Amino acid sequence: MIGRFAPSPTGPLHFGSLLAALASYLETKTKGGKWLVRMEDLDKPREMAGAASKILHTLEAFEFEWDGEVVYQSQRSVLYQDALNQLNTKSLIYGCDCSRKEIADSYNQRPAQHGIDGLIYPGTCRHKAKVKLPHASRVVVDSNPIAFTDAIQGNIQQNLAHDIGDFVLKRADGLYAYQLAVVVDDFVQEITHIVRGADLLDSTPRQIYLQQNLNYPTPQYAHIPAASNTAGEKLSKQTLAPAINAAQASTLLIHALSFLGQQPPKDLSANSIDDIWQWAKQHWDIKKVPSHSSIAFEPS
Ligand SMILES: [Zn+2]
Repeated sequence: MIGRFAPSPTGPLHFGSLLAALASYLETKTKGGKWLVRMEDLDKPREMAGAASKILHTLEAFEFEWDGEVVYQSQRSVLYQDALNQLNTKSLIYGCDCSRKEIADSYNQRPAQHGIDGLIYPGTCRHKAKVKLPHASRVVVDSNPIAFTDAIQGNIQQNLAHDIGDFVLKRADGLYAYQLAVVVDDFVQEITHIVRGADLLDSTPRQIYLQQNLNYPTPQYAHIPAASNTAGEKLSKQTLAPAINAAQASTLLIHALSFLGQQPPKDLSANSIDDIWQWAKQHWDIKKVPSHSSIAFEPS
């Protein structure tokens, strides 16, 4: 059993990322598995200088123990290009030089179709003989339903043609898309159990589709509720979620365990961080995690 935590170094860890780290860690470690850390630092323009090392220091201060070396996606472009080539030999890849405006306009008089994750690409370039440079690379999807059973959220089904459309695997600026990189890394790192925030639930069928076409096994997925503020916005760098403070590690770990439905005893916060970890490892039960997509969190 191999699990992982895969933060993006676009800012310091916040409570939402602590939840994903804690849930994936406990799920893996309580079953004798390995827990890997991967920096998802593909989007260099969005990266915050020093955030990657800050994240690792914070994990250490909370006494997370990862196995092996930390992997950096920015150093693995060769692997992503190989996978793209592999899909290309199956005629599943085509170049797309559409701008955002052209995609919106390509619906002609009809209203543009909004899918689960933005505008559904209408396939304009699928049969173009020639596209301009620079262009993105899209993968052809089909309308076979993709279904999987999430260990927390239950049965999930999506139809990529209807809900998403052909999606981008490599952007026109040369950056590999998250959907491709995450699938390749989960395969190369032999990840068997993925525990992460429910904000990624809608991405999972795209990832399963790529796994199927690359002949990779599909890991077991578990999506924990995302933490939101009282306005209902997901805690993220964009909503200015505060960085977690290692000086409050005990309190924050207990908040996180409560959020994840584990019901730690009230007096546990008076104990050392070691005692909290010991309690957490003895009592962790993924079946107690609420099957909501999001829960408001107000630090007390
Ligand atoms: Zn196009």
